[in-house]
Amino acid sequence: MIVKSEAIVLRTMKYRETSRIATLYTKEIGKISVIAKGARDGRSRLGGALQPMNQVGVLFYMKESRDLQLLTQCDIARSFPGLTTDLDRMAAAMAAVELTDAVTPPEEANHRLFDLLSSTLDAVNGATKQPGNALYYFELHLLGIIGFRPDMRICANCRKAVDRPPGGIGVHMTANGILCPECSGKGLGLEVLSPSALAVLQRLQETGDPASATRMVLDPRVRGEIAGVLRRFLLGHVEGLRTLRSEAVFSSIL
Ligand SMILES: [Zn+2]
Repeated sequence: MIVKSEAIVLRTMKYRETSRIATLYTKEIGKISVIAKGARDGRSRLGGALQPMNQVGVLFYMKESRDLQLLTQCDIARSFPGLTTDLDRMAAAMAAVELTDAVTPPEEANHRLFDLLSSTLDAVNGATKQPGNALYYFELHLLGIIGFRPDMRICANCRKAVDRPPGGIGVHMTANGILCPECSGKGLGLEVLSPSALAVLQRLQETGDPASATRMVLDPRVRGEIAGVLRRFLLGHVEGLRTLRSEAVFSSIL
């Protein structure tokens, strides 16, 4: 079967003298591995577009019994030249791509996830203030797509509305979300989320656009808090997810 699809390149590796193997997140089939024969030959049309974080239009032969599909065409569909201009952008974009790879089983299409990743890369690419905030948006909405949406306005234990942190002291959290004052009183949550971090998470959850996240200017303390909370949610729900390779690289640089 010949498949035509849009795809985001998750990772690539060299194969033999001139070929390349790539993992693609395709819109139509989900995650697949492809071999691009001769892609590292300078004259190849396949090679130029087949780079991590590129959104491409691909054509490949799909054979169910095969782990590696044969890529025959690959062209840039949407280019994100800004992703590699600074470390903040690169770290956020690489983490989003790596998380997509970590949460997706092979050959399971999910248009919402494809669109989330694509719009997140686009937001990081075009960000003028804080590109890294798009990753928080991505992580929060990713949790929803994989079935673990932490509702930032409803108690995870009794489902009662938690509109505003009582007395400006913050809310207690569990692995699944926030707690109302009564449920926190029962000692169910240990970690406390500050009112400012909660307000940002509520905004991120309610906006439908990662670009608006990059226009928010958050102080480093709130960013640290949000990054930590989101990562703990993900670690709690995604089996086998540990430190992201991209984060290990960037934390040693930054
Ligand atoms: Zn409650």
